[in-house]
Amino acid sequence: MTTPLGRDVDAIVVGGGLAGLAATHRLAANGLSVTLVEKRERLGGSSAMSGGWFALSGTAIQRGAGVEDSDALFLADMVETGGGYADERLLQALVERQAHAIAVIDRAGAWTDELKVSAGMTAARAHLIRIHALLAFIEHEARAAGAVIRTSEAADALVWDGARVAGIRTARGDLHARAGVVLASGGFSRSRELLELFVPDQAAAMPYGGVGSTGDGLRMAWMLGAGLADIGHVAGTYGQHAATTDDEHELLTANYLGAILVNAHGERFADESQSYKVLGSAVLSQPRRMAYQVFDSVVRARSRPGVPLSDMERIEELGHLVSAPSIAALEHALGIPVGRLERTVGKYNESVWRRRDDVFGRTGLVNGVGPLVPVETAPFFAYPAVTAMTSTYGGLSVAPDASVSRIDRTRIDGLYAAGEVVGGFHGASYMTGTALTKALVFGVEAAETIART
Ligand SMILES: Cc1cc2nc3c(=O)[nH]c(=O)nc-3n(C[C@H](O)[C@H](O)[C@H](O)COP(=O)(O)OP(=O)(O)OC[C@H]3O[C@@H](n4cnc5c(N)ncnc54)[C@H](O)[C@@H]3O)c2cc1C
Repeated sequence: MTTPLGRDVDAIVVGGGLAGLAATHRLAANGLSVTLVEKRERLGGSSAMSGGWFALSGTAIQRGAGVEDSDALFLADMVETGGGYADERLLQALVERQAHAIAVIDRAGAWTDELKVSAGMTAARAHLIRIHALLAFIEHEARAAGAVIRTSEAADALVWDGARVAGIRTARGDLHARAGVVLASGGFSRSRELLELFVPDQAAAMPYGGVGSTGDGLRMAWMLGAGLADIGHVAGTYGQHAATTDDEHELLTANYLGAILVNAHGERFADESQSYKVLGSAVLSQPRRMAYQVFDSVVRARSRPGVPLSDMERIEELGHLVSAPSIAALEHALGIPVGRLERTVGKYNESVWRRRDDVFGRTGLVNGVGPLVPVETAPFFAYPAVTAMTSTYGGLSVAPDASVSRIDRTRIDGLYAAGEVVGGFHGASYMTGTALTKALVFGVEAAETIART
């Protein structure tokens, strides 16, 4: 028998990553009583492991760097990246309400000056935010506003009163919510069962992401008839060393700085400027399901120490970067059949010098942006990397006000969702930084919707 907690609150938030903390803070700031439950012993989830890149347009950082971007271009890039599958109402809402995110980052003082073009972007829109400072700030503000945060307590089910979601069930009993429950429980990158069910061709990717990302919120809402969006497009991210630990963010995308990707036979297999999600799928079908990022000292000099995705110093410290004085020596060090890598690099360099006829149609560093560089200046480097399931971008169907929709698009009263548990924003592929932006923006949005109703 479960023990009743004997306490009602206005709102309950399930999950203490960025989306959940943002919702909790905003609910409390609106004067609602709110309890957040987090099943792990500490808050943070995948958000705390992330690179901290946020996709944002029209920021002071962009203006300061002379970057030409606009909300319309941000929207158009997301639509293009999603291949027409993403829900444009949600994308429109994301762009319109990014002010929510910018305001919180401002208050937290969590900006850095790092700004770059990354996957899916045609302008420098990926802003590096001090993610731990941001999370700590929101948690502090939430507690100060009166929110109750309970760790080591999982929501096991949603309580349905016959008309609406009225609370959650935990091992300690039922907790009732008068106004709404926000699912912010993250994705399912750690659920082999759900990956095999939805995207069996991706199930061989290295499991990564927060340990709590087992799809709990998805299952709970699914049991009430929730619709799902983008779920078949979930894909791993290419660029992680096979020996990466849970605590070390070790993704490198030297290809966006000029590297080529070659498989274990020393052959290229894709346009390296594509999204690391598209490349992740391509790498899963290569021999040994891995690919080397091969580059020269010109690209090596583009490393940004301390900047996720571009930090080669850290990777060298970890002993994961192979270097050699010539391509032949690099080929030997990697165990690639004699002459293959030299031939691949030779062909690639010719197409760069001629500025045309790349066999995979590569025309730029990232997403077609930035001039290509030949692999020609010694010493040479290789980083062996695999596809990791860092996050899952499909999830529950939601309306732009963060309310969860059933399969028939009717609303499940009392139920809201934000962050990685939600689908519809990414479609077929993924723009760097949109996962964190969506978590922050729609965490706040879910709270505002509940406060209004
Ligand atoms: C290595 C890595 C790098 C990344 N880099 C970036 C990046 O630079 N930019 C970007 O935009 N995205 C990035 N992502 C993706 C991004 O971090 C996530 O999509 C985002 O942080 C999800 O936020 P969230 O709040 O929805 O979920 P999370 O931060 O995962 O939080 C969900 C929380 O819910 C808890 N939970 C789960 N089930 C229950 C339950 N039943 N009861 C109670 N609690 C529960 C979990 O334990 C977890 O703490 C990265 C991901 C990884 C893993």
